[in-house]
Amino acid sequence: MSDVVTITGIAAGGEGVGRLADGRAVFVPSTAPGDRVRLKDGSLALYRKFGRAVLGAVEGAGPARVTAPCPHYSQDRCGGCQLQHLGYEAQLAAKRAIVGDALRRIGKLDLPDPEVVEAVEEESEEQPAPDPQVEARRMAALSFIRRFGDPVLKTKAPPVDRFDDTLRNQVGRMAGLMADALGVGLAAPQLGISQRVFVYRVGRDAPVLALVNPEVEWTSDDEEPFEEGCLSIPGVNVDVERPIHVRVRALDEEGEERLVEASGLEARVIQHEIDHLDGVLILDRTTKEQRREAIRALREAERGEQAA
Ligand SMILES: [Zn+2]
Repeated sequence: MSDVVTITGIAAGGEGVGRLADGRAVFVPSTAPGDRVRLKDGSLALYRKFGRAVLGAVEGAGPARVTAPCPHYSQDRCGGCQLQHLGYEAQLAAKRAIVGDALRRIGKLDLPDPEVVEAVEEESEEQPAPDPQVEARRMAALSFIRRFGDPVLKTKAPPVDRFDDTLRNQVGRMAGLMADALGVGLAAPQLGISQRVFVYRVGRDAPVLALVNPEVEWTSDDEEPFEEGCLSIPGVNVDVERPIHVRVRALDEEGEERLVEASGLEARVIQHEIDHLDGVLILDRTTKEQRREAIRALREAERGEQAA
């Protein structure tokens, strides 16, 4: 059986990073977060060797200076993140040069080209019908979430100034609704609460994090387009171009400071949620054509709902 790996981040050398079932990181050149990649039969050992060589090259440059604790993996599971959370531009540039050198040397490993799996086809073939209980919880959660067209979604939210039980309860409720809705992020304005707070979770086993009054401190010059959806715009996916790396200073629900350095999917989710706090939606960030097409699809869906 061939191995399918989902790419979740970008390493300092520019290659995609995914995680194997046994938790080890695998580095796959020419891939981007969200790609599902089928590694050719028998090539896994080569990819692992490649990954070890990349890690070795980075470690050879001195200990990876991780400036903030990795926010979503415990220390013993942080193999891939070590690369993803390097953050600062200068560090990245230095690491890239070193990794680039190593990659040229590794070139003679003769890695087979990864085959990117068509995610949509794959899912319709392999995904079992949704569990009716899960689906019922998802629909219930979605009924609490404000939809496109609600003015609260277009409003810039004011900062939180009280870190009390009300805020902590609200964060707990948001985390529950996000999980039930099968979302990866949920911002307070999506529940009609105009406040600068959101919750997110990237990866099924990662803890839910709450960021309050977040400030984007730095974004990378490197940007990439990627398809995004939104719980407030169900059924719509559009391409959004965003920086690949981001550094954000925020508070948690206890009022404690938090510095988050994120890459790939996590960076994208954080930027999507901060947009919600500023009254910005994915339709404001995509091309005119995709926006027009999405709005037409939404109107049609609405007509269908009214007729039903
Ligand atoms: Zn959204």
